[in-house]
Amino acid sequence: MNGYARKRDVLQVFYPALHGSHAPAMDLSDGLPPRDHPDSPARVDLVLEGFARSGPVEVTRVHDLAEEDVRSLHDADYVDFLLEASGALAPGEELLPVSFGKNLSRAPWRLRPGMFAREVGTPILAGTPDAALNSAAAAAAAARWSSREGHSALALCRPPGHHAGRRRYGGYSYFNNATLAARILASSGRTAILDIDYHLGEGSAELAVPEIPYFSLHADPWANYPYLEAGRTFPENSCTLATVQAGAGVGTYMALLESLGQGIRDLAPAFLVVSLGFDTFRGDDIQDEPIAIETDDFARIGAAVARLPGAKLLVLEGGYDRASLVACAENFARGFIG
Ligand SMILES: [Zn+2]
Repeated sequence: MNGYARKRDVLQVFYPALHGSHAPAMDLSDGLPPRDHPDSPARVDLVLEGFARSGPVEVTRVHDLAEEDVRSLHDADYVDFLLEASGALAPGEELLPVSFGKNLSRAPWRLRPGMFAREVGTPILAGTPDAALNSAAAAAAAARWSSREGHSALALCRPPGHHAGRRRYGGYSYFNNATLAARILASSGRTAILDIDYHLGEGSAELAVPEIPYFSLHADPWANYPYLEAGRTFPENSCTLATVQAGAGVGTYMALLESLGQGIRDLAPAFLVVSLGFDTFRGDDIQDEPIAIETDDFARIGAAVARLPGAKLLVLEGGYDRASLVACAENFARGFIG
């Protein structure tokens, strides 16, 4: 089966034109000294190049800010905080949480990130809220196109979204692009989310509802980001989660993906949102517990995703090894096209 179920055999790609306004310099998640921030703007063009090598693409540059859509998913005080911070920051400044607490609404605004931040790896720059709203707009535009045409599409979202909760940012995510897209698609037919990023999208899991269930295959989320608290669970009627053990190779990975896919086949959705991360590649140093997926293996993953029911809305999540991103994306696309 051709994964695109494409219109005129061209893959429709939705590109967030403003993503470059979010270009964090440093990531302090591993302490000092900081490392160069992995979520580099170059990632989007590398993934696009990979898909374009596999066949013709038609790129729509999205300039909108999806503020109304985002407000339907995230709490008002959280969205307001990000927009206000944007206006108060100087060019080049990176705002990080310094004190964490559930309600810091009376603290000086520079301390308020700690009300919403998961960790210190996800800075806010003056251009971050617009970039995140624009990334969400790319997902929303792709979802509206897919729901109208009934075909698969690719949303090159950056910053990513699957770690963003109702009132929480972290893991380089600010607004939950995949959940937003799924809620739009669900008005046109049964919709599910499949997350194949290396990490559990705990934001997507938190936002999942039984009508739009979330399926995820990921590294151990207690030993890897998002470093869940011991005992944390997600509702079984909306989340189906599978863990790839450290050191697993592609054979094990594909068996787990196949078994997770059975739940999706049983559901027979009209639309499947795919949170697509290339950080499962073995050389991506974001992994705490390396798994052994090679660039060529993405062709098998793409083919397995294509065989699942429903028009696929591919939403970019992680994937930080810039030297391998073109190859990972090209192989995924070749497998997906079949
Ligand atoms: Zn990831």
